[in-house]
This record gives sequence, C-alpha cells and structure tokens, in this order.
Amino acid sequence: MTELKNIVGACCVCHSIRTNNEKNIWESSDEEAYKIANSEALGDWIALSHGYCPPCGEAVFAEIKKVKDKRRERQTYELREKIDERNHAE
Ligand SMILES: [Zn+2]
Repeated sequence: MTELKNIVGACCVCHSIRTNNEKNIWESSDEEAYKIANSEALGDWIALSHGYCPPCGEAVFAEIKKVKDKRRERQTYELREKIDERNHAE
C-alpha cells in the first residue's frame, strides 16, 4: 500500500513554506523548521516541493529578464557591427 505524501511547497531561495495551497500563502520559516520539514525522519509523509515563493519568484524572473535584456543588447550591438563592417566593405 502506498501512502500519499503531503507535498509541501518550499521556496528554494528563502526557505519559506507554503502553508495554504489554495490561497497561495507563504510563511517564512526559520532554518530549524525548514530542516525538520526537509528531514529524513519526516520524509515518509512529507515531501518538500521546491520552487519560488512570490517575492523570490519575482526577483528571480527580474534577474532572468535582466540577463535576457543584456543578451539582446549585445546581439543588437553585434548585428550593428556586422552591418557596419559590410557597409565599409562595399
Ligand atoms: Zn522565497
């Protein structure tokens, strides 16, 4: 017989734990509570599902966007250089 695990959402950045799935409520947990929830002892009935809590998610997405924008800037710059080169060659 397989037991149904309690899947608990946990933030991989700040270690907040989602205490209400329906309302998407996250509560910051201290390091101790996080360790207990993540421990082998409770592993049989609790599974932490790592993701991002809303504030950390926003920060991570902002960071990703920054990197993407930088890359796009760089690509635009390189493209401009190529066009310039071609114009000079003609
Ligand atoms: Zn977080």
